[in-house]
Amino acid sequence: MNLLALPAFADNYIWMVHDEARAFVVDPGDAAPVIEALRTRGLQLAGILVTHHHPDHVGGIDALRGLLAEGGGVVHGPARERIPEPFVPLRGGDTLELLGLRLAVIDVPGHTAGHIAYAQRGAAAAPLLFCGDTLFSAGCGRLFEGTPAQMAASLAALAALPDDTRVCCTHEYTLSNLRFAAAVEPANGDIAAHARHCEALRAAGQPTLPSTLALERRINPFLRCGEPVVAAAARREGAANDEPVSVLAALREWKNRFR
Ligand code: ZN
Ligand code: FE
Repeated sequence: MNLLALPAFADNYIWMVHDEARAFVVDPGDAAPVIEALRTRGLQLAGILVTHHHPDHVGGIDALRGLLAEGGGVVHGPARERIPEPFVPLRGGDTLELLGLRLAVIDVPGHTAGHIAYAQRGAAAAPLLFCGDTLFSAGCGRLFEGTPAQMAASLAALAALPDDTRVCCTHEYTLSNLRFAAAVEPANGDIAAHARHCEALRAAGQPTLPSTLALERRINPFLRCGEPVVAAAARREGAANDEPVSVLAALREWKNRFR
């Protein structure tokens, strides 16, 4: 199975999984890069997965529906959000099979109220995770519709997946997130090392994604709210106490004003 990150807009990725004949895509905010990738590789579109309702994730769906009909696929999306109809509504605990991959749906509210993620089950190694705008490399999504407690629970659900999980986020925010992570934890050598690695990737025009959960546990402040050094930094920025939810809330506010 092949995994591609199709660049879209300024910093989005539309993830494509294909087996040399058929493909599915995740969060096609724009149809053009998907159509181009299908055409150049001679692939049929066999499905669309959607994580949440924001336009940069759903904008290409209607233009891709005609191609889906040929490939026999459908659109899958979050049951509790409004996305272009028709689609198969999914909620946490649901499973689906696509191109022979088994995917489990996880509810991850916070960025939006009904945001879902898709986690591959039963893989021998390196299972895929499509987490939309919930978990980013070295960061997390803004809390547009949810609370810090919801985001903390959502990130904990994702962090419970295997170490070698391939984290397929929807935005190339890694370098700016790593600058913030370094401000939170100036002495964290993993953050500095990964920033150097990602600078080289970006200079070569390569995505910094997918990441892995093992790496995120070492570099992502939003997965490290229980670490004393992270809590201390959050306290200096106004966290009410050392509870992980208070730490996450303060980190998120700090990140919102961080330049
Ligand atoms: Zn979004
Ligand atoms: Fe987005």
